[in-house]
Amino acid sequence: MSRKYNFNAGPSTLPLPVLKQVQEEMVDYHGMGLSLIEASHRSKEYDQIHNETISLIKELLDLPSNYKVLLLGGGATLQFSMIPLNFLNSGKSCDFTLTGSWAKKAYADSEKIGNVNVIFDGAEGKYTTLPPASSLEIDPDAAYLHLTSNETIQGVQWKEWPDAGNVPLIADMSSDILSRALPMEKFGMIYAGAQKNLGPAGVALAIIREDLLETASKNLTAYLSYKTHADGNSLYNTPPVFPIYCINLVLKWVKQGGGMQGIEQRTAEKTSVIYGAIEQSSGFYKCPVSENCRSTMNVVFTLPSEDLDKNFIEQAASEGMIGLKGHRSVGGCRASIYNAMPPEGVKALADFMKEFADKNG
Ligand SMILES: *Cc1c(COP(=O)(O)O)cnc(C)c1O
Repeated sequence: MSRKYNFNAGPSTLPLPVLKQVQEEMVDYHGMGLSLIEASHRSKEYDQIHNETISLIKELLDLPSNYKVLLLGGGATLQFSMIPLNFLNSGKSCDFTLTGSWAKKAYADSEKIGNVNVIFDGAEGKYTTLPPASSLEIDPDAAYLHLTSNETIQGVQWKEWPDAGNVPLIADMSSDILSRALPMEKFGMIYAGAQKNLGPAGVALAIIREDLLETASKNLTAYLSYKTHADGNSLYNTPPVFPIYCINLVLKWVKQGGGMQGIEQRTAEKTSVIYGAIEQSSGFYKCPVSENCRSTMNVVFTLPSEDLDKNFIEQAASEGMIGLKGHRSVGGCRASIYNAMPPEGVKALADFMKEFADKNG
């Protein structure tokens, strides 16, 4: 077996022990004589996985008791609709920070539903910088403030959180959930599609403060209402059983690896290796993002020409390092180094970067 180092931005690499366990348990789950994905979502076997997954999320993120953990279909993208449908309902407006491609998508959907004030727009700097969190002028009457904690395409990541007072802070954490400890009490809601740091595509995690559930719109169809899912423990309809099962295994893998402390330590090591390779290349590789907001998950960089970008990506692939092409909207290169990317993969990439720069610089 030869596994590649997979630097894709999402879906992305998963821990090998998780894949192996899924393989082992697939045909006959714990002696049931069938797989978990063929079992009823009301079976005791699935129920155990479902509830344990929710408990592990609470434990790893150290959630205060007044937050509900929801597991929903539709990816992070459905949340772009559900958030304004549920919370932008009382004649209020919401505040938005436009920090890159994903924030803009969330904004576009919100605007169809209610009034949105943009309090930061990174367009002029081509989405390579963030403002100091303390400089944001938040409307004290806003229904909420939305931000994107990590812009997967531009490689820009918030390092500090605005103090929004009574205004609930809502964050799209799709590409950096579970990469760092969070001061959850600062957030009204966080959400994330699974396919970067949590598991396979097909489910979104939403963590919502209970008081917000009470004030949410009452005029929604069942699936679109957060309250439905909170009241039904995310079992109102058939949940995405397979991705939730995989998330369960990923969370156990995180826990075994020292929990959030272990993750933070490995992330710090991996980022210093990869940004170090950029810094030490005497300008051959350039990261366009301001130093104070460079992503620890998606490292974007360019070479001296587009031809070199292309050669770099091709040669890396031939050496077993795939998925290094930047998003089609921005070009260049991008190395996504999510939790499941082993340090050896990052080391191999940094070595290759040095070799390539020496040959082509
Ligand atoms: C991937 C991603 C999304 C979209 O997630 P889906 O599950 O495909 O809907 C949204 N926001 C961010 C920051 C992402 O990285």
